[in-house]
Amino acid sequence: MTDAQAPDLTGTDTPGTPTGTPGTTGAPAPAPGTNPVAPTPAGTRTAADVVTPELVARLVKGVVGSGRTVNHTPFTGEKLADLPESTPEDVARAFDLARAAQAVWAATPVRRRAAVLLRFHDLVLERQAEVLDLIQLETGKARLHAHEEVQAVAMAARHYGHRAGAYLRPKRHTGAIPVLTKVTELRHPRGVVGQIVPWNYPLELSVGDALPALVAGNAVVMKPDTESCLTALWARDLLIEAGLPADVLQAVIGLGPVVGPEVVKRGDYVSFTGSTRTGREVAQIAADRLVGFSLELGGKNAMLVLDDADLDKAAAGAVRACFSSAGQLCVSIERLLVHESVADAFLERFAARTRAMRLGSALAYGADMGSLVSGQQLDTVRRHIEDAVAHGARIVAGGAARPDIGPFFHEPTILDGVTEAMTVCAEETFGPVVSVQRFRTDDEAVDRANSTPYGLNSSVWTRDARRGRAIGARLRTGTVNLNEGYASAYGSVRSPMGGMKDSGLGRRHGSEGILKYTETQTIAEQRLLPLAPALGMDDEGYARFMSRGLRAMKAFRLR
Ligand code: NAD
Repeated sequence: MTDAQAPDLTGTDTPGTPTGTPGTTGAPAPAPGTNPVAPTPAGTRTAADVVTPELVARLVKGVVGSGRTVNHTPFTGEKLADLPESTPEDVARAFDLARAAQAVWAATPVRRRAAVLLRFHDLVLERQAEVLDLIQLETGKARLHAHEEVQAVAMAARHYGHRAGAYLRPKRHTGAIPVLTKVTELRHPRGVVGQIVPWNYPLELSVGDALPALVAGNAVVMKPDTESCLTALWARDLLIEAGLPADVLQAVIGLGPVVGPEVVKRGDYVSFTGSTRTGREVAQIAADRLVGFSLELGGKNAMLVLDDADLDKAAAGAVRACFSSAGQLCVSIERLLVHESVADAFLERFAARTRAMRLGSALAYGADMGSLVSGQQLDTVRRHIEDAVAHGARIVAGGAARPDIGPFFHEPTILDGVTEAMTVCAEETFGPVVSVQRFRTDDEAVDRANSTPYGLNSSVWTRDARRGRAIGARLRTGTVNLNEGYASAYGSVRSPMGGMKDSGLGRRHGSEGILKYTETQTIAEQRLLPLAPALGMDDEGYARFMSRGLRAMKAFRLR
């Protein structure tokens, strides 16, 4: 995006997307202004206080870019910073620099690489105020939701800082013939990983997701979204302060369809997080090159409220699950399936909490929800609400844009009476809109929850943990949270997180989240006797000897 093209309303670095019409589309708006505005504490910092020319100059030093672009803050739609933009030649240079640095980094002992992550963990927690301001300004989210990113990055840094050595250490295995064949499995870094990052979680999904690749000995060329790249660059700087050699983590920025494919064409492995549509394009290029890739994609996540759920806790949990980061969270809940016997009582509680949510744009704690990121996101939200209402849905809470707070603010919205025919039921909204549907039996709830091409996250609320786990195992989603919306599974960094079906391929976190950034190599040493007739055996004698040996190995339960 260039200055000339930069209508401050698009909010993402994909060109040709429609600009928004903040607050002016004509969806039914029962009671605009229902949600109160969070007060701005005296002395709160402004964008100009935070995004100073000195800070921008320091951060953009990390970008390999010879062009020029800008980004904006969704809070006002105004320009935040002048930025370099990367050309295809710049991307090639970034890969060259990364490749040159990677060999030395890979030769650095794992424990020293891991120590960088543990120092980074401490620095992020110490310096969190700086990055919380940047995340809020670049994404428009409330500070409490920005803090989720700090928590997620600290958890990933701690986990891989402590466990990388164990995940990566050479492993001994039983060989073809025990004792005679000695086998070691090695894990090598893949080389230079190309990483493509969406705008919505610019700390967690940029450097946060790069940590396991780096500690495994790879270099990374990261392409954050232009609109939230300052956050990613800040994190890169902090990682260098923690001890990472600067060239090991390169940054390029620019238009997604231009710079993105250049990254995919050069990576020895590709880590992509974003929409399912773009993920398919990335997969095609990577498949053609025969390089590995992981895709963390969209969702249409369901929360099941069973007939024995604690309704107060479920209502409070639904507010967090549906409206965190204004619903612009991949694991956010967009479909609420409630047992018919408790639906009215649940909805009453949920609607009351939703209407009381305070909206705000201050760089301070206190708001329960912030802004949408762009006019494009606002238009999608309006379109989905309009379509649902036109087909008979009822707005229970919210329903209106809030241009009185900022150009892309929209109230948290609950729709009742949603049917499968409505767009809001099928497509990812990625906004603060949730549909309510009633069910009669557990089987019906499971079928409805699974009736989407997506399979990222789900949530089950019940007082019966055994019943909840049994239902969870039938849901076709990569994560299931019991009596929580998304945070329990996402925050459990020892366990894999990712999507089934159209929600992705591969996983972040746990062993899968680091081993995907490695190539395995098996080194097998044959000792004393060859795997062939020897010691005067003829072919038939050898075949008999081996057949007996195989039977014995099974009898001795050798694996
Ligand atoms: P997007 O697909 O438009 O963009 C994601 C990234 O891809 C951006 O950096 C963009 O510049 C780049 N890009 C755009 N076109 C490209 C191309 N042709 N080739 C290569 N790269 C290209 O997605 P978005 O709107 O930024 O993010 C929102 C989506 O991401 C939602 O669907 C959300 O559910 C999903 N998401 C998923 C996860 C997860 O972990 N599963 C996390 C966050 C967001």
